[in-house]
Amino acid sequence: MEKKNIVVLGAGYGGMMTVTKLQRSLRTDEAKITLVNINEYHYQTTWLHQNAAGTIRDERTKIRIKDIIHPQKVDFIQDKVLSIQPKEKKVMLENTVLDYDVLVIGLGFEVATFDIPGLEEHAFTINNIKNARQLREHIEHNFAVFHKEEEKNPARLTFVIGGGGFTGIEFLGELANRVPELCEKYNVDKQNVRIINIEGSSTILPGFDEQLVEYAMNSLEARGVEFITGAILKECTPTSVLFEKHGMQTKIPTYTTVWAAGVKANSIIKESGFTTNQGKIEVNNDMRSPEYDNVFVIGDCALIMDFEKGKPYPPTAQIAIQESEAVAYNIKAYIRNQEMEGFKPNILGTVASLGEQDAIGVIFKSKKILGWKATVMKKIIDNRYLLKLGGFRLLLKKGKFNIFPRVNQ
Ligand SMILES: Cc1cc2nc3c(=O)[nH]c(=O)nc-3n(C[C@H](O)[C@H](O)[C@H](O)COP(=O)(O)OP(=O)(O)OC[C@H]3O[C@@H](n4cnc5c(N)ncnc54)[C@H](O)[C@@H]3O)c2cc1C
Repeated sequence: MEKKNIVVLGAGYGGMMTVTKLQRSLRTDEAKITLVNINEYHYQTTWLHQNAAGTIRDERTKIRIKDIIHPQKVDFIQDKVLSIQPKEKKVMLENTVLDYDVLVIGLGFEVATFDIPGLEEHAFTINNIKNARQLREHIEHNFAVFHKEEEKNPARLTFVIGGGGFTGIEFLGELANRVPELCEKYNVDKQNVRIINIEGSSTILPGFDEQLVEYAMNSLEARGVEFITGAILKECTPTSVLFEKHGMQTKIPTYTTVWAAGVKANSIIKESGFTTNQGKIEVNNDMRSPEYDNVFVIGDCALIMDFEKGKPYPPTAQIAIQESEAVAYNIKAYIRNQEMEGFKPNILGTVASLGEQDAIGVIFKSKKILGWKATVMKKIIDNRYLLKLGGFRLLLKKGKFNIFPRVNQ
């Protein structure tokens, strides 16, 4: 059998788990596996809101790729993917060109700003370690300046979060928890701090159970978060944000607008000429591109339909991880000329954190959980991933075991 050249692009949830499974299931004489990622580390995207608020250190979220991959079985290339040439079976990196027999695209998501004026230039986002750090430092900087300035500028301590979906709400919970610590550190009265959430729908966490949404709002409001629902963000400048509600426009002076209301698939896919649906590749049942039978797509770059609901599955880490099992299995089948299997997500549940000590969720399809039980479940989900990815060693190093932890762990 000819040795196949497998190239995996992106070391996110989908890419990392695919490589971990391939290195276990393929022999070195049947495949050469290459993983390409922009950073030398994998990060847990689902923890980034904590990095952004400063309630967890970056080192906890980052996992060195070389600590996970098997050096005899996987070549790791730290480089930036520029484009894919599927007809020529080539990938253009910033520093080299790669040929492949089998490709896995797992380049994740980008922030979508829907052409709202000023958002791209002036809003903060939470989509990788670097911009999470930028936001954290910016928040702390404004507390420090507010403390020192003669004439206090309230815009410095007004934080506006656009989007009341998963990312926005999880960040609000962390920020609300961090504020008392920052107030103490910079000798600022908490009354000076405003945290405002602007959400376009009539409720936060659209799609979540009503009782859980109410619980989440009460939990966050009790910690000082203000909600403005049914409001559309219209413009963002470095010192203000403009929104419209019931046809009336209101400007909020703020130095910090966080945009957490839209993601889209990595634009490399579209720019590389793949046929797309909502910017993603609508994959076949076996996770392959309908156009190229040697290209597998995974995670936020892949679109799979939920035929029961008549709409695509939402982009989640849970689905990306499950897809990686099917993709690894099917790549093995592909190179061994065996039959591939079809993929269907098995949604085990969804838990949204409201800060370290509170959460809401639905598990086992319809069982509602909230409060400490939901926080424990969230930690079980996080720990389960670490165990799957790097075994007990990684779990012990990075796992979340404390039920009532302090901030800044
Ligand atoms: C704050 C936040 C909280 C979330 N919470 C949850 C949650 O609780 N549960 C849940 O299921 N989902 C959650 N999600 C969604 C989830 O994180 C994504 O669906 C998931 O990360 C998608 O996995 P992926 O493998 O497709 O991409 P990613 O995990 O985003 O990985 C993509 C990888 O590709 C790399 N990359 C990108 N471009 C290039 C390039 N040009 N060259 C080289 N490398 C590149 C990136 O650095 C990254 O390592 C959350 C998302 C955010 C932002």
